[in-house]
Amino acid sequence: MQNLHDYKEISLVDSHCHLNMLDWENNKDSLLRQAQYQHITHMLTVNVNPLEFAQLLEIAHQHASIFCSVGLHPNNTNGYKGAIDTVDWHQSLYDILVNSVENPKVVALGETGLDYYYDKSERKDQQDAFNIHLKVAVEKDLPVIIHTRDADVDTVHMIKRFPESRGVFHCFSGDVAFAKEALDLGYLISFSGIITFKNAESLRDVVKYVPLDRMLVETDSPYLAPVPKRGKENQPANTLYVAEKVAEIKGILLREVGEQTTKNFFQLFNKAM
Ligand SMILES: [Zn+2]
Ligand SMILES: [Zn+2]
Repeated sequence: MQNLHDYKEISLVDSHCHLNMLDWENNKDSLLRQAQYQHITHMLTVNVNPLEFAQLLEIAHQHASIFCSVGLHPNNTNGYKGAIDTVDWHQSLYDILVNSVENPKVVALGETGLDYYYDKSERKDQQDAFNIHLKVAVEKDLPVIIHTRDADVDTVHMIKRFPESRGVFHCFSGDVAFAKEALDLGYLISFSGIITFKNAESLRDVVKYVPLDRMLVETDSPYLAPVPKRGKENQPANTLYVAEKVAEIKGILLREVGEQTTKNFFQLFNKAM
C-alpha cells in the first residue's frame, strides 16, 4: 500500500500519447485538469503522420508541459505515399523531418519502426521510412520513438546500422530476451497500460527485468486504457495506473517510479525543458 504522503510528492510524465486523437480542442481543459490531478507534469504527444504535424505542433505550443515529435507510423507509410503529390516520397519525408525538428517543441523522431502484424504498408516502404528517421535522428542528435510489432529481428538489425542512435521502444510487449536486445542497443523501454491487463503475466516479468533507470511509462492514449479504466478512452492522467503497477511489480514506492522515470524522460528527450 502506498500512503497518502507518498502521493503528494509524485510526479510523472506520459512519455507517449496522441492528444490530437482525443478531440483536443473540446476536451483539453478536462484532460489537463485530470492529468494534473493524477500527478502528470508533462506529456509527449507523438506524431504518426507528418500531414498532421502542424496540428500537433499547435497543441504543443499551447502548453509548456506538452512536447511533440515528428514522424510517420509504419502503418501509415502507404497512406502517406499516396497522399503526397510528389514522385519522391523518400526525399519529401526526409525534408519534412529535417525541417520540423528545428522547432524547439519537437523533441524526438517518430513514432517509426516496423509493424508486420497489421502489415498495412509494404515492408520495404516501412523499412525505408524507418531508415530515414534513424538517419535524421543521428544527424540531428535526437532520440527515436520505436514502434515494433512482430518484427523484432528486422527492427534490431536496422537500429544496429545506426550505432549512434538512441531512443525508446514504446508500448513494449515483447519478452525478456527482446528487452535485453533493446537495452543492449542502449535504448530505453516504455511500458503502457498493457502491464495492468490480467493476461499480461509474462510482460510483468519483463517489468521486473528492466532496470528502473532504463524505463519510461506511457499511456498511448487514446488506446490501451489500463485497469481500472479498461474499455474507456485512454488519457494521459492514466499514466498513474501504469506507474502504480510498475511500483507494485518491483516492490518499490510509487514516488521512486515517478522520480526515476521522469529523470529518464528528460535525459532521453533532452531537448524538452
Ligand atoms: Zn505505437
Ligand atoms: Zn502511439
